[in-house]
Amino acid sequence: MPVTSITSMESFENVVDSFKDFDIYEFMNKRNDNDVQKAIAKDKLNYRDFLTLLSPKAKNHLESMAQKSHKLTVQHFGKTMKLYTPLYISNSCSNECVYCGFRRSEKIPRYTMNMDEIEEEAKEIAKTGLKHILVLTGEDKKAVSVEYFGEVVKMLKSHFSSVSMETYPMDTEDYMYLKECGIDGLTIYQETYNKDKYKKVHLAGKKKDYSYRINTPERGAKAGLRVVGVGTLFGLGETKEEAFFSGVHAKYLQDKYIETEVNISIPRINAKETDLGEINVLDDAEFIQVLLAYRLFLPKSGITVSTRERGTFRDKLIPIGVTMMSAGSKTNVGGYTGEFTTNQFDISDPRSVDDMIKVVNESGYQPILKDWELPL
Ligand code: SF4
Repeated sequence: MPVTSITSMESFENVVDSFKDFDIYEFMNKRNDNDVQKAIAKDKLNYRDFLTLLSPKAKNHLESMAQKSHKLTVQHFGKTMKLYTPLYISNSCSNECVYCGFRRSEKIPRYTMNMDEIEEEAKEIAKTGLKHILVLTGEDKKAVSVEYFGEVVKMLKSHFSSVSMETYPMDTEDYMYLKECGIDGLTIYQETYNKDKYKKVHLAGKKKDYSYRINTPERGAKAGLRVVGVGTLFGLGETKEEAFFSGVHAKYLQDKYIETEVNISIPRINAKETDLGEINVLDDAEFIQVLLAYRLFLPKSGITVSTRERGTFRDKLIPIGVTMMSAGSKTNVGGYTGEFTTNQFDISDPRSVDDMIKVVNESGYQPILKDWELPL
């Protein structure tokens, strides 16, 4: 029987385990239109309401969900869209994730930038006016040690007001050290919350350790990082199960670490760029349903949609719950200046930061290039 108070659990892995005997698909399939309407009308949703909004019946109510989502988003964030861009500093990786072009068995050129090269990239990005940056690496502690990462962050802080990281999972002490260096945000995707699936797609390296990974966002929150972002990689596991656990994960962190800003992303695999064979496709309508269900369940959470998605599709999402979008993105090392390596994945929205600013403005929203700076 699943828990009624998720924050009473010692870790989020315990929360996932507590749902072991609860058939979420059976529960969703039994929801009717009335259940969905009631869930939409509620101010504070529990996990059963959240599942109701992810259910097949909720597809008939996307319009009312979108109206509520818009209202909640404006209430908590105003009519704003935060823009940021990723900066890949290394593509070296010691893991074997079957869905990723950076996996260690791939015979691709590997490169880790030195400090001067990273600063050149930073200067190029800073010219766009962006003040928020997400620094990424493959997962290879030998190529990018915690200490090196710390030095990179210190340098980047002279160009950007907010530096977030998406790299290998670390211990709480490492996050505390990086916070001292100037990191204020951590993004770490579980990829899939389903333990069996996780094992099948993570064949070698430290990332095989499901427990260490799933508890990483909590270590970041414990270290006092200002922002922690979670998400699943849609395409790997069953879509609704993944949406459910990633939403509950965000809720768990938000309720337990009330000073931490918790964000959630909706990345989905582009079928063309993986050797996975069969993937669990999250189509556009389901994507929208998941986005709206996230917003109604998590009114205060930032919701990110990256350039993995097509521009025309992203534009439609602006008024219905998204609060953060990447812009002018490059997904290779040296992409802004030297192009040292191949992409981790192909982007579907190549528009520049200027283009995105224009699009956001034309939608009646305010593009936000900077909304935070470490107090002196
Ligand atoms: S998903 Fe991350 S950890 Fe896995 S192979 Fe790619 S870069 Fe490495």
